[in-house]
Amino acid sequence: MSIKSNMESLIEEIKILEKNSISGEKVNLIAVSKTRNLDEILEAISGGAIEFGENKVQELREKIEVLPEQNFHMIGNLQTNKVKYIYDKVRLIQSLDRVNLLEEIDKRAKTSDIIVNCLIEVNIAGETQKGGVAYDEVRSFLETCLDYKNVSIQGLMTVAPDTDDEELLRNCFKRMFKLREEIKNSYSEVRMDILSMGMSQDYRLAIEEGSNMVRVGSKIFGKRIWR
Ligand SMILES: *Cc1c(COP(=O)(O)O)cnc(C)c1O
Repeated sequence: MSIKSNMESLIEEIKILEKNSISGEKVNLIAVSKTRNLDEILEAISGGAIEFGENKVQELREKIEVLPEQNFHMIGNLQTNKVKYIYDKVRLIQSLDRVNLLEEIDKRAKTSDIIVNCLIEVNIAGETQKGGVAYDEVRSFLETCLDYKNVSIQGLMTVAPDTDDEELLRNCFKRMFKLREEIKNSYSEVRMDILSMGMSQDYRLAIEEGSNMVRVGSKIFGKRIWR
């Protein structure tokens, strides 16, 4: 199977899956292009890819430079001292998970007089080795975010545990969906348009449970050798 045909069949499959989503929303596909080279990305574009996800700042910068027309998302752990390289170049920072990062993004955005769109990353299963705001702290973190006028929260993101335990995964996705609904209902000033969850292993479950943005890498590009 080629990258192009993988991409085409994934787009078709998502069209079918979204019909069974409890949210009834359309699903946006982010092609996770980390570790992939320009030729691979161009092939994905020929198969219909429009938006890309990267998790390393240096790699993201290089790719944006050669592909200025594409939309890139920062989906990986973001160090505060590297915000300056990407804050005004990405469509969305999906990994906002702490106050010092929030402060830095806001400060940079102010100097450029722009609004930077972000998702709050949620550590849904309380995994210690992972980034993300603890489930119980999402609301208070969100309230802090509202004080920073050059950062606009657009929704929530999570990376589910690496397991094939379907029950556990479904439960994580259900809690994320519920959290998003609760926030939508209690903060009228907050946009909660995006619920970014689901990767190659679990995007089908995630869509059923209400995801409207999936981040898929290896299913499109083949197995990664590293990261
Ligand atoms: C790598 C990565 C993905 C995609 O993973 P695949 O298993 O290759 O689909 C999605 N989200 C994040 C945050 C990632 O780092």
